[in-house]
Amino acid sequence: MNPQRRARGARGLGLSPGAAIGPVWYLKDDVGEVPRLVLAAAQVDAEVARLEEAFRDAAREFRRLRDQNAAALPEAERRIFDAQLALYDDELLRQSVAARVRSGPLNAEAALKDEIDHLAQLFGRMDELYRERAADVRDVGNRIQRLLLRRKQEALAGSGPVILWARELLPSDTLTLDRGRLLGIVTEVGGEASHVAILARASGVPAVSGVQRFEALAPPGSTLAIDGRKGRLWVDPPPRLARAIERARASHVAERRRLQDGVDVGVARSRGLSLLLNSENFDNLDPTVLRSADGVGLYRTEFLFMGRSTFPSEEEQLAFYKDVLRHVDGREVTFRTIDVGGDKPLPYLVTPREQNPALGWRGIRLTFEWLDLLIPQLRALLRAAAHGPLKILLPMVTTVEEVRRARALLHELAADLRRQGLPHGDAVQLGAMIEVPVAALAASDLLREADFVSIGTNDLLQYLFAVDRNDLQVAHLYQPLHPAALRLIREVIRAGVAARRPVTVCGEMAGELLSTLALYGLGLRRFSMSPAHLPEARLVFRCFAPEEAAALVEGVLGLPTAADVGAILRAAAVERCGVDAQPFLPR
Ligand code: PEP
Ligand code: MG
Repeated sequence: MNPQRRARGARGLGLSPGAAIGPVWYLKDDVGEVPRLVLAAAQVDAEVARLEEAFRDAAREFRRLRDQNAAALPEAERRIFDAQLALYDDELLRQSVAARVRSGPLNAEAALKDEIDHLAQLFGRMDELYRERAADVRDVGNRIQRLLLRRKQEALAGSGPVILWARELLPSDTLTLDRGRLLGIVTEVGGEASHVAILARASGVPAVSGVQRFEALAPPGSTLAIDGRKGRLWVDPPPRLARAIERARASHVAERRRLQDGVDVGVARSRGLSLLLNSENFDNLDPTVLRSADGVGLYRTEFLFMGRSTFPSEEEQLAFYKDVLRHVDGREVTFRTIDVGGDKPLPYLVTPREQNPALGWRGIRLTFEWLDLLIPQLRALLRAAAHGPLKILLPMVTTVEEVRRARALLHELAADLRRQGLPHGDAVQLGAMIEVPVAALAASDLLREADFVSIGTNDLLQYLFAVDRNDLQVAHLYQPLHPAALRLIREVIRAGVAARRPVTVCGEMAGELLSTLALYGLGLRRFSMSPAHLPEARLVFRCFAPEEAAALVEGVLGLPTAADVGAILRAAAVERCGVDAQPFLPR
């Protein structure tokens, strides 16, 4: 092999950090050609019986697989499989397929394919979290289809370790995989909340998604190298690159071991910090992780509104919020009011088409116009507050008037509840997300109206840099460590100190090692992050005393570029924490 030649490669979305190198292996996820036959009326009953038998056998087979593996699976994955089991037993699904057999009249295979395609399309149009339901439906459909067609699923071929490529990694695929042989994972589809991301992070396997036409890029027999933090992959890497990847792999494994073994859970508390979680669904959350945090700093309630065909009623929401409070068990929890619009549409909320949805009708801008949506939610939250402490957070706040308006509405609704004799919380705190640059600049004015603020750096950076947070094409311009961005965040933190009101950061910056360090040094004391980031953040707090972090960060704020800041923070993290971390890409 010529060491000088450039390695072929591709860029995707890094789902799980770490590096790997090894032979590629393709996991075929389709069931092949499905025959389509028109039946005679006399054949219909027997065909429906055949269908029902396949449903029963598939459920039995799946239950057996799940039971065999249950003990070894992390809680998050067990829940995925429990949800799938419910699909196998779902009377409605079985009846819908049987109805297609009868109305065709069609053979069971074709009827099943049509129904699964229909459902997967429905879920696929929804938000990312519910797009995963499409994967579940296809997964269940494939197992039943294989039984109908009497075809067997391929097992992981060969005997050595591999980098697995799948168009999409379905939950039951992960049951049949020999995890000891998984060096890395590459998929075409799968975002942050996808099953593949959950599996990969839980098992510490590097993973990249969003890589198209992979079979053409890396024919069978190729060697593949991947970097799961940067979302990069290379086909048949030249020896120098291969050695670098191997070094990166070894250092990531060592880093993970250090994080898992040595990090003191109590360190953040002893430094006067609050370590909070971002959540949208406790289903995927390990209860021990929840217990190790100080509460939930951002509960994204919009996910409660997705994956259904109508708005949840006030009573349904009340039951849901009470359940969250029960899980959180007396610690703080901040519910953000529904944040839809922009890149999070709701299928049953039809809004006008906009040229620039990210700059348009989203968050509080939308719910102020749709009071039918906002009022039941605020009433349910006020009522839930009678059962435990909670705070309410408004997304996409632009002006002080918006906070005033929400406060007035809360007063009105509390008065209504009093008149109706419904128990509710009296002093529920109201906060504003700082995601719009002008809100950051006006933080001290906002803090006169809001009880607290929470900086949503994912959106704040998107608007500061004029870079779509989902667009990999311009991702290099999304720079969390840019000194000007850090200076702006410092002003918000200072405004909070002056007003004696809490400031939290709840964007991804809160938990990515170098930006955690930067925020800590800027004086931030409340960090809310996805659970996977807790160990990294704790490591930062353990290695740096607050005044050391402050001195370090003070020294970088006058530098001209994010790269300059990144280099200094990175060197400090290597020296003090023994971890070589990289600045991250947008989410
Ligand atoms: C943010 O914008 O930083 C944030 C936390 O909100 P979301 O990621 O839900 O837009
Ligand atoms: Mg946001």
